[in-house]
Amino acid sequence: PSLVASQEEPEERVIEAALRPKFLDEFVGQARVRRQLSLVLEASRLRGRTADHVLLSGPPGLGKTTLAMIIAGEMNAPLRISSGPAIQHAGDLAAILSSLSEGEVLFLDEIHRMSRPAEEMLYMAMEDFRVDIVVGKGAGATAIPLDLPPFTLVGATTRAGLLPGPLRDRFGFTGHLEFYSVEELELVLRRSAGLLDLRVTSAGFTEVAGRSRGTPRIANRLLRRVRDWALVHQIDQIDARAAGAALDMYEVDAKGLDRLDRNVLTALATKFGGGPVGLSTLAIAVGEEPETVETVAEPYLVREGLMGRTPRGRIATPLAYEHLGLPVPAPAPF
Ligand code: ADP
Repeated sequence: PSLVASQEEPEERVIEAALRPKFLDEFVGQARVRRQLSLVLEASRLRGRTADHVLLSGPPGLGKTTLAMIIAGEMNAPLRISSGPAIQHAGDLAAILSSLSEGEVLFLDEIHRMSRPAEEMLYMAMEDFRVDIVVGKGAGATAIPLDLPPFTLVGATTRAGLLPGPLRDRFGFTGHLEFYSVEELELVLRRSAGLLDLRVTSAGFTEVAGRSRGTPRIANRLLRRVRDWALVHQIDQIDARAAGAALDMYEVDAKGLDRLDRNVLTALATKFGGGPVGLSTLAIAVGEEPETVETVAEPYLVREGLMGRTPRGRIATPLAYEHLGLPVPAPAPF
């Protein structure tokens, strides 16, 4: 399985939870979002009101869930977690909303995947802290208004653009999470290594950070794989060479591309002659959902200059051919 995918072993989940920062001060990087968010929270504390609704966008593993937990922690409020795909009927959402306590933080992951009727119910809940519960069907149906206690919605989405405008507009604050720099990932890894009681040299941290696709979740996951490798090889201090050897074994290359990334890039370069090719065609060629290719693989490939997005489709850049060890095709004649 891909090291990037979010399905994990139960034990891995326990470790991932243990590595989660609990306060804004411990949250590495994302300086702008951290500053803005801290202001939003401070202001609502001073007013003695629940915080404004917050929308967090960015690729998986950059810290959206962690920030939602931090918001609840900083506001001293309980946290409820659900997700768009889990809310298929308006009734599912009504059940959650009507059981919230005052000031509670409701985290809705993948909020862009909620059903339409639920989304419309959410508009009113966010704005007026009220929902209409529809009882009965057809001509006999009646709407019973229900007041809700004030709550803070924290919505997360892999791309803010996937959200309908009216929903986006109802958030008081939107934070876009960016990929992390290698230096920031080194800080994440140092903290995790401390918690896992693991000895790693500075160069060892740099090696793991450089292969982490700008993503803390991947950094932590790679660190755990390196830890397994060191245990089996009876190495008690992990240096760059050990880290590199371990990660080579897990098919995470020097740029941090994993199998999904390389499959996408290879298909683009070889099956489609470098493109342009449409997203869905490309996704079929690698046997993945278009949304997975678009939100998991693509943002990082584009950022690394390996893939380009054009109005006619996706293209492989000369850098992609170099990285894959393929001859760079001659530019097309005019
Ligand atoms: P998302 O919800 O965006 O997919 P998560 O919040 O679940 O991402 O983060 C994945 C993991 O990465 C968490 O377990 C956490 O330990 C780690 N993590 C994310 N962001 C940070 C950060 N800024 N500093 C330290 N660790 C982080």
